[in-house]
Amino acid sequence: MSTSEPQSLPTPRAEVTAMPAYVPGRPPVPRDDVITYKLSSNENPYPPLPGVLEAAARACAVMNRYPDMGSVELRTALATKLGVELDQVAVGTGSVAILYHLLQAFCEPGDEVVLAWRSFEAYPIAITVAGATGVEVPLTADGRHDLPAMAAAVTERTRVVLLCTPNNPTGPALTRSEVEAFLAAVRSDVVVVIDEAYLEFVRSADPVDGVGLATSRGNVVVMRTFAKAYGLAGLRVGYLVGPAPIAEAVRACSLPFGVSSLAQAAAVASLDAEVELFERVASIVAERDRVVAGLADAGWTVPEAQGNFVWFELGDRTAEFVAAAEEAGIVVRPFAGEGVRVSIGEPDANDVLLKVAAALHPSRHGSGDSTP
Ligand SMILES: *Cc1c(COP(=O)(O)O)cnc(C)c1O
Repeated sequence: MSTSEPQSLPTPRAEVTAMPAYVPGRPPVPRDDVITYKLSSNENPYPPLPGVLEAAARACAVMNRYPDMGSVELRTALATKLGVELDQVAVGTGSVAILYHLLQAFCEPGDEVVLAWRSFEAYPIAITVAGATGVEVPLTADGRHDLPAMAAAVTERTRVVLLCTPNNPTGPALTRSEVEAFLAAVRSDVVVVIDEAYLEFVRSADPVDGVGLATSRGNVVVMRTFAKAYGLAGLRVGYLVGPAPIAEAVRACSLPFGVSSLAQAAAVASLDAEVELFERVASIVAERDRVVAGLADAGWTVPEAQGNFVWFELGDRTAEFVAAAEEAGIVVRPFAGEGVRVSIGEPDANDVLLKVAAALHPSRHGSGDSTP
C-alpha cells in the first residue's frame, strides 16, 4: 500500500467511545487547617482486621507463583459458611468483575438488561461492554426500586435484571416479600442478579434471603464483595452464589488467575475474623443511625439508609453542598445535578458531615422550592 494514501486507524466500537466514564470517589487533599476525610467511595474506614495483614504477607512470599486459578480454598470457605455447594460459588476481582463475566456469558448484542436508575454507576458501563442494551427504570420518589415497573419492563429480549439492595447511591433495601413477588412475575429464563454489596449493614424487618433464593431457584444469583464491610477494597475480590450452571458460566468467562494470591489469602483470613468484623460493622451501623437522626434534627429527610452511606437529593444545589463539605474537610461523592452520596466514616468525620448539613438549610434544597 502506498504511504501517500490516507490510512484509517483502529476504532473502538461506537458504544465504547460513547460510554460514560466511571467516576471514582476522590481522595482528600491534605491540609494544615483541618483534618480531611474521604467519604466518597463507601470504603471501610478501619484498617485490616487482625490476622488479615499477616495472611496477605505470607502470600507475598510466594508472589513468583501464579495464584490458585480455581480459588478453591476461598470458595470452599464461602461454601461452608453459607451452606452451599462449591460449584455454586464463583469469585472474581471484585463483584463488578463478576457482573462483567455474567453479562458476557448471558447477553448477545441487542439483548436487554433491566436495571433501576439511578443505581450503581458501574452497571451501565458493564452492560455496554457486554454489547447489551440497558433498560433503565426510574426509582420511586423515595429512592427505592420500582419493582412492578421493572417487571413490566422485561421483554422477550431481556436476559438479565439487576437488583441493587441496598441501592447505591440512594440507600433503601429491598424486602423479602417484594423480591419474591417480583420473581414470581419474571420469566424463569431471565437471570435476576441481587447485588448485595452492602448486605452486612442492612437492619431490616423483612430482609431478602439472597442465598436462599439463589440456591432454590434456577435463575437467581447474589453478588457480594469483600470491598465494603470486609475492608479489602484495595485487593479486589468479590463472589457470586447461584445455581451451579450460572456460576460455572461466570467462571468460564473469568480472566485466568484474576484473583491474586494476596486477595485469596486475605479474604479467607477475613472470613475467620468475622467476630471482630461484625463488631466494626455494628459500630458503622450505629454511626449511620446517629447521622440519620442528626440530619432529621437539622430538618433533613434522607431516603432509608441501609448501607454505609447516606443520600442527599439536592438537584441544582449539589455543587453548593459539595463545596461546603470540601471546605470543612470531607470529600463526598457528587452526582452532578442530582445529589450527593456521603459514606459513613469515623465518628469525627460524621460529625463534620452533621455540621455541614446543619449549616445548609434543607428547605433551600427541596425540589420545586423557590426560596432563594
Ligand atoms: C461497591 C459496590 C460493589 C462492589 O464492587 P467491587 O468490585 O467488589 O469492589 C458492587 N455493587 C455495588 C452496588 C457497590 O456499591
